[in-house]
Amino acid sequence: MRLPIIAGNWKMNTTLKEAVALVREMRDKLESIKGAEKVVCPPFISLAAVADLLKNSSTQLGAQNMYFEEKGAYTGEISPAMLAGLCQFVILGHSERRHIFGESNELVNKKVKAALKAGLKPIICVGETLEQREAGRTEDVVTTQTKGALDGIAASADIVIAYEPVWAIGTGRAASGEAANATIAIIRQTLVRLYGSNIAQARRIQYGGSVTAQNIAEFLKQPEIDGALVGGASLKADEFVSMVEQAAAIKGGR
Ligand code: PEP
Repeated sequence: MRLPIIAGNWKMNTTLKEAVALVREMRDKLESIKGAEKVVCPPFISLAAVADLLKNSSTQLGAQNMYFEEKGAYTGEISPAMLAGLCQFVILGHSERRHIFGESNELVNKKVKAALKAGLKPIICVGETLEQREAGRTEDVVTTQTKGALDGIAASADIVIAYEPVWAIGTGRAASGEAANATIAIIRQTLVRLYGSNIAQARRIQYGGSVTAQNIAEFLKQPEIDGALVGGASLKADEFVSMVEQAAAIKGGR
């Protein structure tokens, strides 16, 4: 029984005013959908306002990143404690963080530990680049990233993994449902080796990479895929609502 989870990663999009308008546009429609978990992840500056709008709502809030230290001289960074009062989730190890900002597996692991300690649920992103895929290294890369992020993390930790092939993110070139399912099965096998079968079967693994309302069903129909981490298409209220509706219809209450 894995409740599907659709999370919208707004990335560096929306001003405060736009973020508030977007949440207002979808909040009531999302509220009426049962059978799927829904999470929006706006930029830091909008978290407080969006948290206010989502009070008493079943739509949850996530941040897109955080630093692992509790506080101090880390100009420009945001701590777990700052997010803990506002968010339930935090995206960690997104490929844009890994590849543009140079985040290593070790850093992602420190962030995962700090997030869990603060009571935040990490959405941990893993995925291979096109070069790695073409070199036949997909399995090695996603296994190493998964093991790296989860080093020292207890089996009971409430985590979500997002498999996001880097070549599919923001490119309009999604993986096929079958290919995504096969790689997610490899990630689940890694969880089996780390935590045993029961825990591995209980953990949710999303697909991410050019998911839209038009193609999401292809992913949700796959047995290993428990939802989606959506970038661009999550910025359109109707499209995000439609993706959550499809998740509830295809996988809800499984
Ligand atoms: C993402 O930001 O995690 C993502 C998958 O982006 P997009 O849906 O735009 O490819």
